Amino acid sequence: MEFKQLKSIFENNDSFLITTHVNPDADAIGSETAVYYILKKLGKHVFIINYSPLPYNLTFLDPENKIETYSSEKHDKLFNDVDVLICVDFNRSDRIVTMQPAFVSSNKIKVCIDHHQDPENFVDFPFIDDSYCATGEIIYDFIKKTGIISLDKNISEAIYAAIMTDTGSFRFERTSSNIHIIAAELLSFGVIPGEVYDKIYERGKFSRIKLLGSALASMKLYGKDDGLCYMVITQNTFGETKAEEFDTDGFVNFALSVEGVKIGMMFVELKEGFKVSFRSKGSIPVNKLAAEFDGGGHVNASGARFHIKNINEMLPIILSAAEKYLKL
Ligand code: 5GP
Ligand code: MN
Repeated sequence: MEFKQLKSIFENNDSFLITTHVNPDADAIGSETAVYYILKKLGKHVFIINYSPLPYNLTFLDPENKIETYSSEKHDKLFNDVDVLICVDFNRSDRIVTMQPAFVSSNKIKVCIDHHQDPENFVDFPFIDDSYCATGEIIYDFIKKTGIISLDKNISEAIYAAIMTDTGSFRFERTSSNIHIIAAELLSFGVIPGEVYDKIYERGKFSRIKLLGSALASMKLYGKDDGLCYMVITQNTFGETKAEEFDTDGFVNFALSVEGVKIGMMFVELKEGFKVSFRSKGSIPVNKLAAEFDGGGHVNASGARFHIKNINEMLPIILSAAEKYLKL
């Protein structure tokens, strides 16, 4: 990757707007704050504007309260006032939902730092490589290869959170020896693994666990040799449990944890439609399955959003599309 080019964009401009995808995870937020810290060390003006509010379990990654939730009236002008727009952890403009028009129509320098497949051609400077396990790892590599700043505890913690979550706590296929070496270095700056894990995964609200209970109760097996397992979460369930969309993060893995299941799916009814999370084992490419419905993601983890509200109408169609992949 042309990290020198990214370095000069950072050094030769004054003001930056960083953003990430809808429903951000720790790689999204950790990568944003890591880039924020780099730019602040260089003395730049930096804004972080996201479509979705910051999930409560990730607030520790934003101790200075710098992340703002997008409002068209408040922020649209900013997209043309700053010098550079930086997208992290996504590579298609529809992933920023209602921010898309302000982003697309801006004539400022656009940069994307990301590790997903099938990027859209939507920025001037794409730093995209799907061989990285997390966007946070790209930022680590950028810092090390250019020496643009030196690592400190804050940046290390942001990058560690990004890598830890996107590797499924160091167990997914792309968990290389190199990623452990990187983690070891981050620990040397004072990151405490148990603390980061606890903050992200072990301070769930009661409502989240109640929601998990409903999601587990809804699980059904489907397809050849019961190779597919799916769960459905409706707006009713959110109402009953008082949980929210981001509380569903990670639930889909339970569908995949059933013996013999090769594809796990979670249907989540939203206020304005529904979303499906796809997970798979081995070489089953659920990113291709998601792409059949205008979604995307990684080989083993992908998703798609639907604008129609009725899950029951689409469920059989999506299940039968998924069934082909069981036979691969
Ligand atoms: P999740 O199921 O956790 O929401 O998302 C899993 C992966 O799929 C993430 O890497 C995410 O970037 C990708 N993904 C989820 N939803 C969508 C979508 O609607 N469009 C695209 N292009 N990717 C998605
Ligand atoms: Mn990521």
